[in-house]
Amino acid sequence: RECSHSWSAYRRYTSVTAEDVTAFRAIVGPNGVQTDGLDAYNTDWLKTHTGHSELVLRPKSTEEVSSVMSYMNERGLKCVIQSGNTSLVAGSVPIDNEIVLLMGRMNAIESLDTASGILVTQSGSVLQTLEEYVNERGFIMPYDLGAKGSCLIGGNLATNAGGLRFIRYGSLHGSVLGVEVVLPDGQVLDLMSQMRKDNTGYDLKQLFIGSEGTLGVITKVSILCPLKLKHQTVALLSLKSYDHLLKIYDKIRRQLSEYLTSFEMMDALSLEAVVKNLEQSHPLGSHNEFYAMIELSANDKDHMESRLSQVIEELMSEQLISDGTYANDDNHNRFLKLKSYRERIAEGLLRDGYSYKYDISLPLNVFYEIVEVMRERLKDTDCLKVVGYGHIGDCNLHLNITSKAFDKRIKTTIEPFLYEYVAKHKGSISAEHGLGLMKNSYLKYSKPVEAIALMKQIKKLFDPKNTLNPNKVLPND
Ligand code: FAD
Repeated sequence: RECSHSWSAYRRYTSVTAEDVTAFRAIVGPNGVQTDGLDAYNTDWLKTHTGHSELVLRPKSTEEVSSVMSYMNERGLKCVIQSGNTSLVAGSVPIDNEIVLLMGRMNAIESLDTASGILVTQSGSVLQTLEEYVNERGFIMPYDLGAKGSCLIGGNLATNAGGLRFIRYGSLHGSVLGVEVVLPDGQVLDLMSQMRKDNTGYDLKQLFIGSEGTLGVITKVSILCPLKLKHQTVALLSLKSYDHLLKIYDKIRRQLSEYLTSFEMMDALSLEAVVKNLEQSHPLGSHNEFYAMIELSANDKDHMESRLSQVIEELMSEQLISDGTYANDDNHNRFLKLKSYRERIAEGLLRDGYSYKYDISLPLNVFYEIVEVMRERLKDTDCLKVVGYGHIGDCNLHLNITSKAFDKRIKTTIEPFLYEYVAKHKGSISAEHGLGLMKNSYLKYSKPVEAIALMKQIKKLFDPKNTLNPNKVLPND
């Protein structure tokens, strides 16, 4: 286990007493308070960080969240908001004994306007449930993640989750139209809107998108859902080199742009993590150095698939791809199975023991170079795999390194070298996952000191007592 933070920072906070627990029971009801069996809420998805919370609260309504926050603020009790607990930067777990505010009971879907595609829901709805709900009514969610069965929409907003459809539908900063937020002192900030255009003053909702639970509790969301196109096809292509991958990406973007919903890359070891560690059959039978997974959507299936076949034939004759397969959603199981080879990489890697996860943005000309640089750098350590996969269309690389157990020497060989490399190429040290507890001290590699100082002032303005997810996101002084 990696627990590197200093405990002295927490001493000034109040501890939870029996009277507090009684007061919380009065607010959220007996079913809304849990004081034992809390291991799952104290441990992050990567099983890297463990907190010591002895109290979990499960509010059902904005009013309950408001009363809880107001009470905690008065008492100086600190709190961490937890949705699906799939954070990959230990953002959602207590690091000392913060009270865990669990959002899963706030899962009422309020409405979907089928004329505009605007969905209004409480923030505790599971992403997959929302996807199924809007699918049945002719829409899709504007984003899709491997963690969709567990993560909640409030957690997605709080982390500004990107995911597999980003290339087509852009970021949550564009598709979220409104939020309702409870501030640390219990005040309810109603920024709910169903208007796409609204240039009245500062757009405050944007501050909460990507705030990682440090500024307020997102309790309600309105989000614009794109129309569901009738047919989806996913293709998996195998190829020899990163240079070929770039050529394929360029060609597919130019020739199939009207259909393209995602363009993902994985290297041989990433796919091996799914095939070997999760005991799956190889999707192509023949191994290669790189794989591209392309998802297309259209109403006219025949036209889409004949264009895809044409492009694949050209890529074959130009010897840019060696092999390939595709599935469409007429055969839903095969379609989902093929997609799962990309979606389950993180899970597969975790089976090695420990996974050092880096989620960086880099220009495409140096995008894969860092994987090779890292392999060379780590060759004399006990690491098992150095892999690269990710959203090539968004210049977002997941660089993952695995070992049997956490090894400090591996970590110090990676960091801060990796962050210096990213800063040198003007990339981002966290493209998607945020900073949480694991990356907050490296913010300076992506943002200037003036910006960090302003961020600290914003945090002070919203949370002057620093009780909401303290010691995450911003670097400690
Ligand atoms: P949690 O993990 O519970 O919380 C995340 C952060 O948000 C915490 O700081 C928490 O305090 C805060 N928070 C949670 N709810 C609220 C709320 N209601 N109000 C205010 N703050 C809140 N991320 C991507 O961007 N793209 C991907 O493709 C992607 N794939 C993933 C695949 C897997 C298998 C896993 C495990 C994770 C993946 N992630 C990805 C990481 C991603 O951050 C999360 O999956 C997701 O967005 C977090 O949602 P959650 O409900 O689990 O939030």
